[in-house]
Amino acid sequence: EKPGASSSKSEDNIRSPICCIMGHVDTGKTKLLDCIRGTNQIGATYFPAENIRERTKELKADAKLKVPGLLVIDTPGHESFTNLRSQGSGLCYIAILVVDIMHGLEPQTIESLNLLKMRNTEFIVALNKIDRLYGWKVCRNAPIVKAMKQQSKDVQFEFNTRLTQIVTQFKEQGINTELYYKNKEMGKDTFSIIPTSAISGEGIPDLLLLLVQWTQKTMVERLTYSSEVQCTVLEVKAIEGHGTTIDVVLINGMLHEGDQIVVCGMQDPIVTSIRALLTPHPMKELRIKGSYVHHKEIKAAQGIKINAQFIVARNSVFVGTHNHKGWKCLEGLYASVAVAISFRQLV
Ligand code: GDP
Repeated sequence: EKPGASSSKSEDNIRSPICCIMGHVDTGKTKLLDCIRGTNQIGATYFPAENIRERTKELKADAKLKVPGLLVIDTPGHESFTNLRSQGSGLCYIAILVVDIMHGLEPQTIESLNLLKMRNTEFIVALNKIDRLYGWKVCRNAPIVKAMKQQSKDVQFEFNTRLTQIVTQFKEQGINTELYYKNKEMGKDTFSIIPTSAISGEGIPDLLLLLVQWTQKTMVERLTYSSEVQCTVLEVKAIEGHGTTIDVVLINGMLHEGDQIVVCGMQDPIVTSIRALLTPHPMKELRIKGSYVHHKEIKAAQGIKINAQFIVARNSVFVGTHNHKGWKCLEGLYASVAVAISFRQLV
């Protein structure tokens, strides 16, 4: 079975929720994704439901996993995201905001917070690097409450002191936060904090479970698969042997080789057809430059590289939306983000 096919399977016809990970440099965003161990996609990491089930079993959650998995967009590499001023592109349903417990809120944390506020996106704070608290006793991959109980009074005291300071820093930004297991108001006015270590894995089960439960509970309607294509361009890249390609996140619907697509260009929409639908090779050893798996079709949600004939200069794609009246370019925005839509839906 090709790797792209698995991400779409779901009995209830529910798509994987799309999550983005944000925060200051060096807080551990990359390490957190590595620690959860998913498969690499274009601009994203995919965590299949089986992995999530395995990693969260100690938490004994009764709730059934309805989503086929979780698609995490690694935003830092994508300039388009820091420039993202999208109106309802609906790309990220939820975000993980990573904060280093030893550093508290940093400039890019605040920048990320402002983006989240502006887009009205729910988020969960991963208070990372708890293993760096002096005297921390490693409880590999343990749920956080269990790990915390194993700690000395001194460690618990240091943790509480730092947590209180960080909650105060959030308050200064106009955001209420609380430890997730004490937070009864999740999503209303108070955002949840999950202490984590991307090195020894404490708190990771809690993070995964909360992400999945939260999206399942509140976003079922948005997660229902529909055949209407919704797709966002992350980057435009020239790749040796493939010509100009666009890295996209297919949010909903299905794309086929040969499909006609429309992408917003600098001046006008660009109509072209899909030459190749590509994903990275699943096996790391084979992930050499230019080695991609070709697909006849791919179903949402997934990160894909599309090869097509684009008569555009690098990075010259604009944000655009399509409504029933036709194409609308959101002008004056600098971004390599665009909305592509299946041509069949236009006519
Ligand atoms: P990013 O810039 O946010 O993607 O941060 P990275 O994932 O590259 O991590 C930055 C550094 O912090 C690396 O040296 C990581 O090994 C380290 N790091 C990340 N998470 C943890 C953690 O939970 N505990 C400790 N002790 N170090 C961490």
